[in-house]
Amino acid sequence: MTPAAHRRATAALVAVVALGLAACGAGRPGSGGEGDDRLDVVTSAYPLQYVTERVAGEDAAVSSALPPGSDAHEAELAPSQALRLSDADVVVTLPGLQAGVDAALAASPPGRVVDVTGPADLDGDDLHFWLDPLRLAAVGDAVAGELALADPGAADGYRARARELRSDLEALDARYAAELAACRGAVLVTSHEAFGYLAARYGLEQVGVAGLDPEVEPTPARLRAVVAQVQDAGVRTLYFKTEATDAVTRAVAARLGTGTGVLDPMESEREPGTDLVGVAQDNLLSLRTGLAC
Ligand SMILES: [Zn+2]
Repeated sequence: MTPAAHRRATAALVAVVALGLAACGAGRPGSGGEGDDRLDVVTSAYPLQYVTERVAGEDAAVSSALPPGSDAHEAELAPSQALRLSDADVVVTLPGLQAGVDAALAASPPGRVVDVTGPADLDGDDLHFWLDPLRLAAVGDAVAGELALADPGAADGYRARARELRSDLEALDARYAAELAACRGAVLVTSHEAFGYLAARYGLEQVGVAGLDPEVEPTPARLRAVVAQVQDAGVRTLYFKTEATDAVTRAVAARLGTGTGVLDPMESEREPGTDLVGVAQDNLLSLRTGLAC
């Protein structure tokens, strides 16, 4: 190619790229980033991100509105993160979990909001439905239905991957049920009262040292009640969550001479790429080791 021909070819290429970018900017609302014309799906908490990524596969671009490692209860949104929520094609969210996300969605609603409250079948004020594998599977099915509506061309893929996710979560549920069968009625003492759905599903009695909101310090009356229950029920282990250095629970355990164990409430991703089902299996091992059963 002569230099002149090369310049012409380069100019033509630049024009094509510019046209392409203009088309992206003005085009269909399904942009998962520059040059990516897939559905842009933004999620608001790690368990929702996990489910949505599993269901989306390669057919949609899934990202989290929160910085990696954010705690589900504490996350605050920077203005750029709020903007990503309102720019998304689909937002998958659980209202009530993060005030910052709720406010951003109310201020500037995106094209489609998937509120998982219904499929999660919430019971009372407890939002931690993802600790129950079967509730999580139901949310996966609902996310697949919504993605199929937003992107009908990829509907079969969304539904097929939701069935795979359901199959994994039903296997997890069967394993929990089998391995915890001997523990029915056991008292599960946790620093953060996040395991109500798990306890209800597998016949355990949850006692939380702190309450549903881990930021609220337990009162002396609550601590006295926990100590009494630990002693009455012959509890061997007090559980706290991975990411917390839970001074109160550790102090109670030291005073009572019980052991401590780790239960991950799966509110944030332990490490990038960690599989939620694997974390749930670690939790099961921790329960089998520490519960009196
Ligand atoms: Zn929580």
